[in-house]
Amino acid sequence: MYEVCVIGAGPCGLAVSAALQQRNIEHVVLEKSCIASTIYRFPTQMIFNSSPNLLEIGGIPFYTNATKPTRQEALTYYRTVVDRLNLPVRQYETVTQVSRDESTGYFHISSKTASGLERELLAKRVVVATGYFDNPNLLGVEGEDLPHVHHYYSDPHLFYGQRVVVVGGTNSAAEAVIELYRVGANVRLVHRGEGLSPKIKPWVLPEINSLINKNLIEYDFQSRVVRITPTSVHVHTPSGAKEFEVDHVLALTGFHPNVSFLQQMGVHVDSETGVPEHDERTYETNVPGLFVAGVVVSGYDANRIFIETGRFHGEAIVQSIVEAVTI
Ligand SMILES: Cc1cc2nc3c(=O)[nH]c(=O)nc-3n(C[C@H](O)[C@H](O)[C@H](O)COP(=O)(O)OP(=O)(O)OC[C@H]3O[C@@H](n4cnc5c(N)ncnc54)[C@H](O)[C@@H]3O)c2cc1C
Repeated sequence: MYEVCVIGAGPCGLAVSAALQQRNIEHVVLEKSCIASTIYRFPTQMIFNSSPNLLEIGGIPFYTNATKPTRQEALTYYRTVVDRLNLPVRQYETVTQVSRDESTGYFHISSKTASGLERELLAKRVVVATGYFDNPNLLGVEGEDLPHVHHYYSDPHLFYGQRVVVVGGTNSAAEAVIELYRVGANVRLVHRGEGLSPKIKPWVLPEINSLINKNLIEYDFQSRVVRITPTSVHVHTPSGAKEFEVDHVLALTGFHPNVSFLQQMGVHVDSETGVPEHDERTYETNVPGLFVAGVVVSGYDANRIFIETGRFHGEAIVQSIVEAVTI
């Protein structure tokens, strides 16, 4: 029996754990992968948009030599936080089910370890901090499940000398296009918008604009991928239907939270926005004792909450738990 079970050890789940630890509240964090697994899966050469101080949790300082941290520095930082605060994280243990016993109000939590061991535990409260990175936004077209279609991008080296269609218009797509061009891939960008997102990192924008303006990459704006075959991509463009021969398709079209996981726990989720019903001060959902933290709170608009803002949810949740216990 724990006072609190936190599901997910991303930056925001770890921030909840840090706030609980600092108040000596007995808890456990269950993480299906490694800690900060979303950051682990970022592109290997990724530089954060945020300054290091804006990614800090648990009062542990984060210093870097350059003004923005690298992926590797962020991973080192979050490992340090877990170490320094001695956070009780159980890695490689996936939560498979959460149900609330109406008579006691306690939560029964079922989990499964990477080796297949099934476990059960009881907690008085649950905080869901499961993020969004496991669920890419699909194009919804025929051929999307072919093996050369990827929804995650890690390293440009994999695509040296390859014909790659990158789908998307945000930062992830722009950075991938630049890196792919640099390593000698033949790149085409396809985006449904009129141009790239204005939110692209300030140091990325001039380079991607330069590639476009100098026709160093091919691109189709206001265009949609409609079908993918083992050898080609079919695109609807303003000048008509086009077909391109490709070796790989990188669909970098964002992510969304696992809404059905929340619904299985009894949380009401707005069908339009994907936002779980919750108190905006305490982050407690319509299920008493069940809280949401981090990017899962933002529903389908995953850019509404990020580490800079979601890291404060833990303090608010723990404060409300402490208030509820002392009343
Ligand atoms: C390329 C890229 C660059 C970014 N740059 C920045 C930036 O510069 N600044 C910034 O503030 N934000 C940035 N973000 C956003 C940031 O990564 C997210 O906002 C942040 O990771 C959200 O933290 P979280 O703890 O809510 O979720 P996550 O970090 O996604 O963590 C959720 C965790 O829950 C685990 N989990 C899921 N389901 C289960 C389950 N059933 N059982 C157990 N564990 C489970 C997952 O394995 C994961 O480790 C960036 C995102 C991307 C994709």
